[in-house]
Amino acid sequence: MATIDQEPLVPAAIYLSNVRKSPSDRRAVELADKITQILIEQVMDKNHKKAKKAVPSDDKPRCGLCGKTKNLTKTECCDTWICDDEDKYVMFSYARNSCYRNHRRFTLCGYHHVEEHPGHWKDCQTCRDSFETEMYVWYGTNEYNFEKLENPPAFEPTLCSECGAVIVLSQDSYSTLGDKNWCEKCSDKRLRSKN
Ligand SMILES: [Zn+2]
Ligand SMILES: [Zn+2]
Ligand SMILES: [Zn+2]
Ligand SMILES: [Zn+2]
Repeated sequence: MATIDQEPLVPAAIYLSNVRKSPSDRRAVELADKITQILIEQVMDKNHKKAKKAVPSDDKPRCGLCGKTKNLTKTECCDTWICDDEDKYVMFSYARNSCYRNHRRFTLCGYHHVEEHPGHWKDCQTCRDSFETEMYVWYGTNEYNFEKLENPPAFEPTLCSECGAVIVLSQDSYSTLGDKNWCEKCSDKRLRSKN
């Protein structure tokens, strides 16, 4: 699949945020919407890169995330077979090597259950209101889900206030202050110029 090179999108991204500030020209807004769509695809593409291979189907219970058949348990949130591996997680390591923990911590399904919301997570307004749209979409569609959010809502990609690069909130490191965000490179530059 073709990957989108970020470089040519940078001037487009800056243009886009200017158009949105003065939406008088309809064609320009349409163009900005198209660019937004490309940027969203780029974010989604980055999110899905790490998606795992399809699990082979036979009768054995398998972890719904990685397909292993040993040492399984069922999730509390959705009663699905999953590795009983939370002990593998080292405190404060931020490692994402535990299927059990990944599903509980990084999906709407897990969050919705832990927070004891009523009904199904897919149509839970409390979940929807709990996160920025980009993160809501990530929690509902990332590779730690068994079932993904259908028709995830559109969102405005987050752009670096300095260079206009797309910041993928769920993957990239970035810094933020008020309504401004800086990509990793620009954050480093800002830090260095202060010292
Ligand atoms: Zn697993
Ligand atoms: Zn679940
Ligand atoms: Zn919920
Ligand atoms: Zn930047």
